[in-house]
Amino acid sequence: MRINQITIKPGKERSILQRHPWIFSGAIHSATKAIPPGSCVNVQDTKGQFLARAYYNPDCSLAARVIGYEPGLELNEALFTQRLAAAWQRRAPLRTTSSNMQRIVASEADLLPGLIIDRYDDWVVFQILTRGMELQRDAIIAAIRTVINPKGIVERSDEAIRKKEGLEERKELVQGELPPGGLFGLEDGLKLGFDLWDGHKTGFYLDQRINREIVGRYAADAEVLNCFSYTGGFSCAAGRGGARSVTSVDESRAALDFAEQNWALNSLPEGRHQTVRADVFAYLRELRDQGRNFDLIILDPPKFVSDKQHLDRACRGYKDLNLLALQLLRPQGYLATYSCSGLISRDLFQKVVFGAASDLGMDVQILHHLSQADDHPVLLSFPESLYLKGLLCQKLSP
Ligand code: SAH
Repeated sequence: MRINQITIKPGKERSILQRHPWIFSGAIHSATKAIPPGSCVNVQDTKGQFLARAYYNPDCSLAARVIGYEPGLELNEALFTQRLAAAWQRRAPLRTTSSNMQRIVASEADLLPGLIIDRYDDWVVFQILTRGMELQRDAIIAAIRTVINPKGIVERSDEAIRKKEGLEERKELVQGELPPGGLFGLEDGLKLGFDLWDGHKTGFYLDQRINREIVGRYAADAEVLNCFSYTGGFSCAAGRGGARSVTSVDESRAALDFAEQNWALNSLPEGRHQTVRADVFAYLRELRDQGRNFDLIILDPPKFVSDKQHLDRACRGYKDLNLLALQLLRPQGYLATYSCSGLISRDLFQKVVFGAASDLGMDVQILHHLSQADDHPVLLSFPESLYLKGLLCQKLSP
């Protein structure tokens, strides 16, 4: 039987030997003819030395993603079942009576590049991002049934990035009935609802779990402004932390409706939460012009940049936002500020926030370096898996 192979250019093997899972088309010297896009190949150097096993899509610039280091390794139901079971097991300590939502498979970081699987209570949502994973759709669903056996399974492969792999977007109810009125899961004791079908990404931003808990600790008696609130996860955490008032700001009315519902569901004090549908940038300027002040401001914007050419523009965006927020903070007030743009390193993000404080002539302390929740592991050989970074700051003066 013919074994499909791709051969790596001399000098380009290094990252593969260091177990980085991405192989760009520019690193490929040659490939066996007519490899069906998405199928598994052996990766070798020009001397014929085996390097890794990967799936390959010749139509993409990110052409191959490594799945393991044994020749002949295949993506199939057995492999998905084994890796999903391992990922499920790794996260067992995170499943408690007060938390039933988790990322179970975080793509490359769980050795399943191009696949995301989230569990929300008795529901599993999966997302396929590459041709290699697309070919394995049935095996993935079978593995989810074997390992997790949820009541419902939803596919939310409706990410535009699939176009790069020549794939259409797909959204499908694979098993069960959609929970009417949204799904209500538990995060550290908070009941949080969102729309499984039309909500962002796979429904909910699980990566902020730990940060919601941390922010809650600084909310006692505070006037809180939660910018880019989505369904109000941070708002409810601040409410539980004893906030005097919380304002949730987002451009999505549907998300804000959930934020209101979530506040009430957690029996948080009536009349202390309001939602504002607005563009955060414009709204922050408005508040500044009105001379408004807050004790705790949360900035959790969407990803600002996905290609290097636009890095400067993204930094200016982050700087503007943080500058506005620092102006609105009372002395001794707290700023929880995030970036989920993978291209912006932790160092760079800190420099941007420093730039904002420095322009304002302010002393600002970092109290916590913030990151993604522990169900979003980072693979050491794949630093790209660390994408969410943040700072919890306190404004000292003026
Ligand atoms: N902090 C949220 C997640 C934020 S995701 C949580 O803990 O769940 C980013 C949110 O920003 C989305 O809800 C999106 O609707 C909103 N958004 C994006 N651009 C915006 C803008 N310019 N103004 C207001 N909201 C915006």
